[in-house]
Amino acid sequence: MTRRGLLQSLLAGGIWSALKGHLSAAQPVSMKDVEALQKNWKSLLAEGVKVPSPSQQLKLSKEEWRKRLSPIEFNILREEGTEYPGTSPLNNEKRPGIYTCAGCGLALFTSEMKYESGTGWPSFFAAIPGAFETNADFKLVLPRTEYHCARCGGHHGHVFNDGPPPTGKRWCNNGVALKFIPKSGKI
Ligand SMILES: [Zn+2]
Repeated sequence: MTRRGLLQSLLAGGIWSALKGHLSAAQPVSMKDVEALQKNWKSLLAEGVKVPSPSQQLKLSKEEWRKRLSPIEFNILREEGTEYPGTSPLNNEKRPGIYTCAGCGLALFTSEMKYESGTGWPSFFAAIPGAFETNADFKLVLPRTEYHCARCGGHHGHVFNDGPPPTGKRWCNNGVALKFIPKSGKI
């Protein structure tokens, strides 16, 4: 929805209906809905695309990662860097599909778990079960929960408790650390 469209909805239909429209038509309302999205994530996987499972661990040396990744991917995934907000083309990605780890291809999120947080980073209110492991991170003095790929250990972002209901979670992910596979198969 455009800013003008949002304003018109605010005037015509009240704040709630405008906000609901702004989030997404398919926004889940209960945890049961979220669990269904998590359970059925493979329905968003493009035909013929194979993704690894978290148990197929990928352990490489720093040098091997440096060869495999671009400099910015290496900085974010292997050195816990953070991209500048608003720089990822994935902020505006709205097609159905799967977001995988740019380091190892593990499926992390689906398009149905994505929402517009307004932060400038791709944001999700839930993740595919088993995709991530978490750690408390004290870099900004106050603890934040850092999360990383369960398969390759690559750093992806931080999870906050200010996301939309019903999960209340905001998985704030570096776009550089993600690869999007559209369900249509056309990248
Ligand atoms: Zn990974």
